[in-house]
Amino acid sequence: MATAGKVIKCKAAVAWEAGKPLSIEEVEVAPPQAMEVRVKILFTSLCHTDVYFWEAKGQTPVFPRIFGHEAGGIVESVGEGVTDLAPGDHVLPVFTGECKECAHCKSAESNMCDLLRINTDRGVMIGDGKSRFSINGKPIYHFVGTSTFSEYTVMHVGCVAKINPEAPLDKVCVLSCGISTGLGASINVAKPPKGSTVAIFGLGAVGLAAAEGARIAGASRIIGVDLNANRFEEAKKFGCTEFVNPKDHNKPVQEVLAEMTNGGVDRSVECTGNINAMIQAFECVHDGWGVAVLVGVPHKDAEFKTHPMNFLNERTLKGTFFGNYKPRTDLPNVVELYMKKELEVEKFITHSVPFAEINKAFDLMAKGEGIRCIIRTDN
Ligand code: NAD
Ligand code: ZN
Repeated sequence: MATAGKVIKCKAAVAWEAGKPLSIEEVEVAPPQAMEVRVKILFTSLCHTDVYFWEAKGQTPVFPRIFGHEAGGIVESVGEGVTDLAPGDHVLPVFTGECKECAHCKSAESNMCDLLRINTDRGVMIGDGKSRFSINGKPIYHFVGTSTFSEYTVMHVGCVAKINPEAPLDKVCVLSCGISTGLGASINVAKPPKGSTVAIFGLGAVGLAAAEGARIAGASRIIGVDLNANRFEEAKKFGCTEFVNPKDHNKPVQEVLAEMTNGGVDRSVECTGNINAMIQAFECVHDGWGVAVLVGVPHKDAEFKTHPMNFLNERTLKGTFFGNYKPRTDLPNVVELYMKKELEVEKFITHSVPFAEINKAFDLMAKGEGIRCIIRTDN
């Protein structure tokens, strides 16, 4: 390849300051170093996690930075020591990695890789502590090891899943974060028994995928909880059977759900990032067997408060990143579910914009409109 080993100049959407619109700039992308790959990003989308760190209201500010972690692309070149990826491979980046060697990667129960687990405050590559992006020699920081709001990005090989080259990247890119996260939170973590009742807090892409996962697992009642009533009609397509808007009630939503379900739901999955919703999601599960799963990314100072008796009464609280999927091992199989038509992703994609209009995706999320907006870096 003509570009291998050389600096590539390309366009990237740079966040110079917290909360200010991204600006499309020409950046220099250094070649991948040992155990790294450089990927041409074709499609990327916006997840709420990008927005939290861009707003930096409840998170550590790291700027200037290139955000983005939900994407699909093609390997352009590989660094020293990379053996399982080659130029031309179709890949999905993942914000949390899999080194395949640590105790977590070797455990069937964990995807919290010691080396590459999500780190939202690091803005550099773990190999040498430097950024691969620069403008006029000034470094631009990375985000969660992926920084996909760029035509080219450099990632550790452990944060890159190689997928079926037949899979359409403009569709399966949404599996690289939100959809797999929600799906796995239900199927792998909450594990609702057949015929059970599940509450889903937050009906964005992650929550809708959690509803879909609950449906696939065999839940018969799926109660969607959201403050935005505009979400409800759409959520029926994802298996939600009933809805609760906490704003419509003058008592705690836990009580509303307990009344609807004869004492509490069997499972709940929280996909809002709001601490109150996290507490509600735990307290609304049935005593004796209820399990709540937290997925939303909390404010950095958030504290979870509940009476210990809620645990003694045999309720379980869990949390998950990426739906407990191991990125490199499991994500290619999630893509295969789509290829076999066992999982639909098109219904999650409501908007699409060219790279130059990336800020529109932020506006849509701020307004709570649509589900996922695909950003096309190519055209
Ligand atoms: P989104 O903004 O599209 O959807 C969030 C929904 O939650 C919205 O519909 C909003 O109205 C609703 N909501 C907000 N506060 C609420 C409350 N108090 N009660 C009820 N509903 C409320 O976001 P998304 O992209 O679907 O992401 C959802 C969450 O999941 C975010 O916090 C994101 O950071 C997190 N996330 C976590 C992981 C992980 O691996 N754990 C991965 C991806 C995303
Ligand atoms: Zn995400």
